[in-house]
Amino acid sequence: MKKAKVAVLGATGSVGQRFIELLENHEFFEVTHLGASEKSSGRKYSEVMNSRWKVSADIPGYAKNMEIVNCSPEFTPGVDLVFSGLDSDVAGEIEMKYAQAGVMVISNAKNYRMSPDVPILSAEVNPEHLDVIQFQKTPGKIITNSNCTIMGVTISLKPLMDHFGLDSAVIVSMQAISGAGYPGVPTMDILGNVIPFISGEEDKVETEPQKCLGKVSGDKIESADFKISAHCNRVPVLDGHTVNVSVKLKKKATESEIRKAWEDFSGEPQRLKLPLAPEKVIQYREERDRPQPRIDLNAGKGMTTTIGRLRPDPIFDYKYTVLSHNTVRGAAGAAVLNAELIYKKGILEVK
Ligand code: NAP
Repeated sequence: MKKAKVAVLGATGSVGQRFIELLENHEFFEVTHLGASEKSSGRKYSEVMNSRWKVSADIPGYAKNMEIVNCSPEFTPGVDLVFSGLDSDVAGEIEMKYAQAGVMVISNAKNYRMSPDVPILSAEVNPEHLDVIQFQKTPGKIITNSNCTIMGVTISLKPLMDHFGLDSAVIVSMQAISGAGYPGVPTMDILGNVIPFISGEEDKVETEPQKCLGKVSGDKIESADFKISAHCNRVPVLDGHTVNVSVKLKKKATESEIRKAWEDFSGEPQRLKLPLAPEKVIQYREERDRPQPRIDLNAGKGMTTTIGRLRPDPIFDYKYTVLSHNTVRGAAGAAVLNAELIYKKGILEVK
């Protein structure tokens, strides 16, 4: 099958850099354009990224000499799909322009996540949500992925919901600084510190999982009926969001039944053997002090969700800890996996 031509919008940001890394020599996609703001456009990617490249040994060769362009369809002719790592202040308008121009948009931004005909697609969790994109009014369609904090949480909740039903959960996050973009949180604020506030985050954590775990009903997605209370904290960790979850289930479950539900969990990306699909969607760590971001972050090349410390909760039923890589599984990696899914299923039209 022919490769799809893609642009990365917001290519200079935290998430954009991960896209550049993950799309190197990709089997399905050829990156033809890199977009960013006017202050970066017209300049070579390697020049703009001189002291901003943070993700691996070197900028992939294919991207180094590409000239950054403005994020608008007339500057990225011929693309079949755009990966958006745009700041949410500008993502709404730019992504809509692409959809109106007939281009598929795979977005990391929050702007369209809660629109009823836009899936918050998590490829293993809810591939059936793709059914609603046909009802979007634009010729190009918008597919989002969830907020990075709930990505691993939702993956951990999906097998619990399917086997035992969900009643409610309390979620306490310890979020990495790369989640705030680049340059993000000032050193003076975060070094040796914990900040118990991340603007807008708790609202997203309390609403997005229910949509992600919801059902398609005609032309829209109806959110699942369970409640979440969230506390979100920024901690001095570079990458990897660690989240404590206490959960109340609808049916009784033993620890070994829960462990089995997690261990057995896999989905369409694994069945279709998509390039970025981790072999294990969830890995469970037996050690009493895991998961830890420094040790477990790169499980499954950053695409595996690590869970540990499952134990009874005196108020809810069980409690446990989840770790997922915020810029890989929680952002660019999830978006590339979503794009691989629509490419393989023939939903993406390749010109
Ligand atoms: P970031 O590091 O601040 O990067 C933002 C990007 O947007 C940069 O490439 C920037 O280009 C571009 N941009 C800003 N204003 C623009 C404009 N007017 N026109 C075109 N491009 C513009 O942010 P990030 O952390 O990568 O996050 C990107 C998006 O993903 C956000 O919506 C965020 O909420 C979401 N997200 C982030 C994470 C994470 O862990 N970081 C996880 C999930 C979702 P310049 O460099 O030229 O300014």
